[in-house]
Amino acid sequence: MSEMMTVQIVTPDGIRYDHHATYISVTTTDGEMGILANHVNTIAPLAVHEMKIRRVDDDNHVDWVAVNGGILEIKDNMVTIVADSAERARDIDISRAERAKRRAEQELELAEQAHQMDEVRRAQVALRRALNRISVGNK
Ligand code: ATP
Repeated sequence: MSEMMTVQIVTPDGIRYDHHATYISVTTTDGEMGILANHVNTIAPLAVHEMKIRRVDDDNHVDWVAVNGGILEIKDNMVTIVADSAERARDIDISRAERAKRRAEQELELAEQAHQMDEVRRAQVALRRALNRISVGNK
């Protein structure tokens, strides 16, 4: 039995991540999930979350990726994540994410005052994305 998985993260910008891993953790809409090699085949929707990947090489180095929702598929030790966007910690522009956070907070406040629930939800999602990027970017 293999002790590793291939992990690929795909976004409209292309393949953002492609490495071998011994362990990953993701957050699905049902909660956090730790995944080792030989995991049962699965498909699950993902939350906006910090994905942790323990690499096979580089002394079990850990990578962090800000994953913005999407879908997880595990099939025969191939883990594929398809998301609207995903950024590795080293690629995150933290000041951009802080600007996005402030913008989302302002939009949220205005939308709440105006009782515009669609706008409230949109701003909440944008805020979650920005907070996730800030957190991953600071790792
Ligand atoms: P912003 O308002 O700063 O554009 P956003 O949440 O609207 O943020 P998205 O639409 O989710 O941005 O992403 C657009 C593209 O920009 C994607 O390719 C995403 O990976 C990238 N991106 C967004 N924010 C950052 C960031 N802080 N650092 C690096 N890349 C980012």
